[in-house]
Amino acid sequence: MGAVLITGASRGIGAACAREFAREGYAVAVHYRQSEAQALALCEELTAAGHEAAAVCADVRDSAAVRRMTALVEERFGFIDVLVNNAGVAMQKLFTDTTDSDWDDMIASDLSSVFYCCRAVAPAMIREHRGCIVNIASMWGEVGASCEVAYSAAKAGVIGLTKALAKELGPSGIRVNAVSPGVVMTDMMAGFSAEDVAALKDETPLCTLGAPEDIARTAVFLASDRARYITGQVLGVNGGMVI
Ligand code: NAP
Repeated sequence: MGAVLITGASRGIGAACAREFAREGYAVAVHYRQSEAQALALCEELTAAGHEAAAVCADVRDSAAVRRMTALVEERFGFIDVLVNNAGVAMQKLFTDTTDSDWDDMIASDLSSVFYCCRAVAPAMIREHRGCIVNIASMWGEVGASCEVAYSAAKAGVIGLTKALAKELGPSGIRVNAVSPGVVMTDMMAGFSAEDVAALKDETPLCTLGAPEDIARTAVFLASDRARYITGQVLGVNGGMVI
């Protein structure tokens, strides 16, 4: 199946992606920044189940660190067949309270990171005339969220990057797509009260919130040959919240 590099795989959606891709037979590079123990435990779990996995550390806001990370993964696995750009942070703040550093950090974490990772893997993919990139966007990047202007702008940027890069890399045999999740229960939702979560559920046509596996299975599909004619698309996995 080849190898997949999943950023932010220590927790949440990224960890679910690591498990799903491993089950499909991929060797998995489990990227993390701070959650080393969780990343190592996940690698142990995957190798104990007979899969190939290795943990790699980098701050995805740092272009040089991203280059070192992809070089390490290429050294270990030979070629990165699939890149899943999942690492990211969220921030709820009134627009007028958003500082320059809040803004810069959000763009660095959620948008520049995707640019750095794509740019680091693209040359080898172009050389090999194969490869696939799956970016994890957000429904707020499609429709905007109140008190999440910076996050919405960064994720809208990811969607624009996905569409443009798909056009540029398509002739090189590389597909680039995005998954656009709705509300998914992970650590990212820790700041939401039980009432907020209940209200979000009520607003969702399918009356339930997403699980990390819902996003992971979609990422696996987009990376698979079943999606061989799909590129430049933003696939909403949101229970009908954004249609
Ligand atoms: P999460 O549980 O908070 O996990 C975030 C992951 O990103 C962690 O593995 C973290 O690594 C990594 N990360 C954050 N900043 C990083 C940095 N500067 N450098 C390297 N790694 C970094 O989040 P999640 O809910 O799984 O979200 C994953 C993705 O889905 C994000 O892009 C998010 O915007 C998107 N999304 C989530 C939801 C949702 O409702 N949960 C909805 C729409 C979109 P460490 O812990 O190792 O530092």
